[in-house]
Amino acid sequence: MSSDFLAEYAVPADLTWGRKHKEKKAIGRTEFQRDRDRIIHSTAFRRLEYKTQVFVNHEGDHFRTRLTHSLEVAQIARSVAFSLGLNVDLVEAIALAHDLGHTPFGHSGQDALNESMEAFGGFEHNLQSLRVIDHLELRYAQFDGLNLCFETREGILKHCSLKNARELAEVGKRFIENRRPSLEAQLANVADGLAYNNHDIDDGLRSGLLDLAHMSDLPVFGEHLRAVASEYPNIEEQRRASEAIRRTVNSFVVDLTEESKRLIHAAKPASLDDVRKLPELICFSEEMELKHRELKQYLHQYLYRHFKVQRMADKAKRVVSSLFKAFEEDVGLLPPRHQAQAKIDAPRAISDYIAGMTDRYAMKEYRQIFLVDSV
Ligand code: MG
Repeated sequence: MSSDFLAEYAVPADLTWGRKHKEKKAIGRTEFQRDRDRIIHSTAFRRLEYKTQVFVNHEGDHFRTRLTHSLEVAQIARSVAFSLGLNVDLVEAIALAHDLGHTPFGHSGQDALNESMEAFGGFEHNLQSLRVIDHLELRYAQFDGLNLCFETREGILKHCSLKNARELAEVGKRFIENRRPSLEAQLANVADGLAYNNHDIDDGLRSGLLDLAHMSDLPVFGEHLRAVASEYPNIEEQRRASEAIRRTVNSFVVDLTEESKRLIHAAKPASLDDVRKLPELICFSEEMELKHRELKQYLHQYLYRHFKVQRMADKAKRVVSSLFKAFEEDVGLLPPRHQAQAKIDAPRAISDYIAGMTDRYAMKEYRQIFLVDSV
């Protein structure tokens, strides 16, 4: 999309602050399209297919993985970006890359790695996504990492402690100065929450851990569920649920678009620089924000804390913690590339290695290291 079609508060690709390592201008595509293409071609992106969202990959073929989650985030974010006149390519690049730093086994994997890394600066998946695109992907002759544009990198780093921000130079500055990132980055962030709330309802029902009858009083989803039941009394439960989820996603997308338009119109940002100084402008209405939170709480109570999910999470923590300990005791167990990095910073090398693993690779490593009859 050329900058002619962008609103004045969007980020035009030709005004990017550029890449760390100088490169010739992209031919036939914008700089943000080039970023998106680099992300899709990365190894870390392909690994997302075998990383857990809520359910471990081998639990079923229809559950979301980090890969399908990232695609859904990108889809939602792109359609809202288009309605708001934002840069669709930038928002897509951020959305596709936002979870590249996720550990195996979802949040339990991250918690375990963070605990293991406590004395060495901790582990934070957002920061790890930035490490992946800045350092860990080794694909280009000229530089380590993907050498993405500043605005893409900034968008990927949604949260960051002040301590880490100080070490990150330019990309960490906004946390210290309390400034906002681009509206494209704000949108990718909200679309993340919107996507997982809705697809986790779907996965929760599909797994049988959530009960449809129990959900008819929920805000938004429950309302749509009742409406679908009265409009189509004879359709099967699975279709009723899918139709209600479809309508729920749409309600949130429409609300997000309308409320953000209203806030942008009221604040009148005329440039990215204005956006940085203003409060967040990509938001749900207050009423929908509350409903969004209620859905999230429901999922916490009935899905994420379900004993079956907890059992897998607990197992995952043991795998990650045990692997970390084993590598820490003997870095000679690491593959050669990571041993070389361990000579400089052993805990970070171990953390990078573990964070890069898919669920099944981590389980294979666990078996190889701890089970005597495993090769
Ligand atoms: Mg995400």
